Amino acid sequence: MAVATVVAALAPGVPPVLAAAAPASDGDPVPALVTGGGTEAPQLVTGLSEPAPGEPAAAALAHLAAHPDRYRIDPGELAELATTEAPGGRRTVRFEQRHGGVPVLGGQYLVRLSGQGAGQKVESAGGRYFTALTAPTVATVPAEELRRSALDGLDDARDRAGADVEDLGPVVLPDGAGLLAERFVLHPASGRAREVFVDAATGAVVLAHDTRAPRPEPAAGESAATAATAPAEGLQPATGTAPEAHGRTVAVNLARRPDGGYQFTDLTRTSVISTYDAAGGDFLDYQRKMPAGAAPLSSATPAFPAAAGSSGATDAHVNAGIVHDFFRDRLGRNGLDGKGGAIVSVVNVTDLGTPFPNAFWDRTKMVYGNGPGRYPFPVALDVAAHEMTHGVVQNTANFFDLGQPGAMNEAVADYFGNAVEVTARGTAMDDPTAPLLGESLCPTGTPQACAERRLDDRRTTVADFLGTRHEIDAGGVHLNATIFGGALWDIRRALDPLTADRLVYRALADYLTPLDDFVAGRNAVLAAGRDLGLTKRQLRTVAAAFDAHGIKEGWQQRIGIDSRALLRDVTTGMAAPAAAHGRWVMRADGAAGVGLYAGALDGRGTPVRLSPEDGRSHSWADTDGTNAAWVAKGGSDPRAAQEVLTAPLSGTGPVRSVFRSTTEQVGAVRISGTDLAFTVSSDGRTVPHVSRDGGAPVALPLPEGHSATGLVLRDGLLGWVETWQEGERLVTVPTVHSLATGTVTARFPEHAPAGSGPSLATSLALAGGRLLWLDLPDDHAARGTIRSAAPDGSGIVDLLSADFPQAPRTGPLAASDQAVTFRYENEKKPAGGWTNAALPKLWQIPLAGGAPQRVSCDRGGQYEAAADEGTRVVWLDATAGTTDLVVRDRPAGRC
Ligand SMILES: [Zn+2]
Repeated sequence: MAVATVVAALAPGVPPVLAAAAPASDGDPVPALVTGGGTEAPQLVTGLSEPAPGEPAAAALAHLAAHPDRYRIDPGELAELATTEAPGGRRTVRFEQRHGGVPVLGGQYLVRLSGQGAGQKVESAGGRYFTALTAPTVATVPAEELRRSALDGLDDARDRAGADVEDLGPVVLPDGAGLLAERFVLHPASGRAREVFVDAATGAVVLAHDTRAPRPEPAAGESAATAATAPAEGLQPATGTAPEAHGRTVAVNLARRPDGGYQFTDLTRTSVISTYDAAGGDFLDYQRKMPAGAAPLSSATPAFPAAAGSSGATDAHVNAGIVHDFFRDRLGRNGLDGKGGAIVSVVNVTDLGTPFPNAFWDRTKMVYGNGPGRYPFPVALDVAAHEMTHGVVQNTANFFDLGQPGAMNEAVADYFGNAVEVTARGTAMDDPTAPLLGESLCPTGTPQACAERRLDDRRTTVADFLGTRHEIDAGGVHLNATIFGGALWDIRRALDPLTADRLVYRALADYLTPLDDFVAGRNAVLAAGRDLGLTKRQLRTVAAAFDAHGIKEGWQQRIGIDSRALLRDVTTGMAAPAAAHGRWVMRADGAAGVGLYAGALDGRGTPVRLSPEDGRSHSWADTDGTNAAWVAKGGSDPRAAQEVLTAPLSGTGPVRSVFRSTTEQVGAVRISGTDLAFTVSSDGRTVPHVSRDGGAPVALPLPEGHSATGLVLRDGLLGWVETWQEGERLVTVPTVHSLATGTVTARFPEHAPAGSGPSLATSLALAGGRLLWLDLPDDHAARGTIRSAAPDGSGIVDLLSADFPQAPRTGPLAASDQAVTFRYENEKKPAGGWTNAALPKLWQIPLAGGAPQRVSCDRGGQYEAAADEGTRVVWLDATAGTTDLVVRDRPAGRC
């Protein structure tokens, strides 16, 4: 895929660490001070009661400034996002961290105050403030190039051509020293919106994932929904009648227009509530925008016709009012944005004329589709409340839509989705339909079979957490949601519902921040419980509910991991390890900032940084166990020079430049002793270059129109896949070249195509005196054959048949002199949905032949393998809810 540079689960290295824990007097650790890793600012400070008179935001800043040793925060880097009233006359000020004026992704700090005037006091403070940021704050790559680079993050050329690009401005990604990125949302001509972060110093895509469609924060005082759809002037409140989807005619709040007509605009609440009928329009025309001339559903008389029912408009309009009132009456919230901003629903969208059986919050409004075989989606009050809760979350904790924070976003939306429905309908908490989401949408079948998710599925982190990277469900945001949502629902069943609703809402409004994980969520709910005056017994009940779902400190250690972690929470893009002679090399966010690091595969010692701190991106490293070689790109040079660099793994030797170009693309760097090879691409051709014994690199001659990709280098032999076009057909041929003689020793005959298309050779490796490659019968094949041959072209054998059910479809082949490791990956979502068993897994087969074995029984996704010596393999593993660099010395065998 085009973006090999994507990150995994985000939540950069800030595991809560108990520093000065208070005695667990309530049966649960709500510590007095929680510090975060990767930052010196405490994640939670409680039990303060320190005088802080004055306007709340100014008083909070003065408090932080007065205690530099406690907080390690520069108040000049904080900007007030919101100040909210909490019960008991308390106020919470939420700040955003700005590094040199640039917002820091997930950098938020909250200060909670009690009392009034001269008696005002700070009670507690906490959040995520990143103290190690030194990243530049001005982009060096021109805006147009950043935009082009973001578009390259879309795999499909048709999507690129038709994509709508939204530039959300600069943001600092808070890994280590930080990285200045431009944040884009791409709306492809088809498919889901994609959020892409582009390194502003190099133009490289550093993070990309599917997303709901965010839009820029609106100007101060203006809600996004208002900006999108301001109600017309001169409207008067009115009432009328309209049929629901089920046929019952109900009273509706309307607006009377100056022309005498009526429309679905409810003026009786502080938030103006409007409902639009898309009349079968494409959902993309309504995603974060409104077609020109769109207006709320209207009628000449206050009695609306049957179409208002069959489209779902009446249900959406009535349900929006119910959800609004729930948050107002029960939780004291003024609309979704907390400021009485407009609430807008669009119903009856399709997917280019075909049914769109879904609903979503587009960060400004709700959008609903219909069927097939379902009632219009606004019929389900829990679905409407779920989508509207996303609007509340966006204006409070604003969880990042990836990994655990994204799963908490879905969990909180599920919780209030059901809480609103059971409250409005008078359903008992022990009713079997109470925990079901969307269960009322099916005309036939049981509610259980109809429900999209259920909060009584009893899933736990330890038994059920799905360990995937961004590729699937944005790191499992829906797949892992009920683990956290189930705990919240258990709390609602065990406490009284009103107390539970307040508890979850106060955690959202007063504690949680965009990058928080499940354990931070637990700590936030317990801390909010103390603010609300819950008894010790109630707090123990809350803690027990989280325990029952495995949400407690250190859950990752209890899920049966058989690999050893070398680096935890790898969030840097372009992270893929190389290994040799017991050493690894990889781009990472280490103690010295983002860069290229080397470490020992036995885990001893501290990884050392190899790449200079020069504002460039250093990645795609190879190592022979003594030295590393890699590509540096970008920097302050506007011509964005690319450079091949080498350095000893000790981190103490000089960094040497081997090759530099301002006009060509450099890639596939390989190092083996005093031999070094890389590719140079220009004018549509890719040519191998070789440097021996420190000499100047020379280009190897290739026939006219031929290219060489996928270099491998070992013991004086250089291999590549030679490609050229024969008419419509792409020919791919594994080729071996001797550096000593300067001649090609073998050019393998093309494998006979099995199907209509050509066969494809990819993913070379040189190991054990053999050349290995993956042979695919055609470019749509689900599995390929791993073949091996002597470097002179003799003795071709099939090491692993494509008939093996877990044979690979793509590389790399990670080979040592003893074994080759490959990755099996399901191409599509399995029929029964994603499970840990269906995520990518590593397999290993002896070079001499034999039965393939699982490398590791780690249950989550396994990615980017590199082979050391013997059977030892290092890879990126997402099992534990973060992406970790891990190692195993021998295959686990059967799992
Ligand atoms: Zn959702």
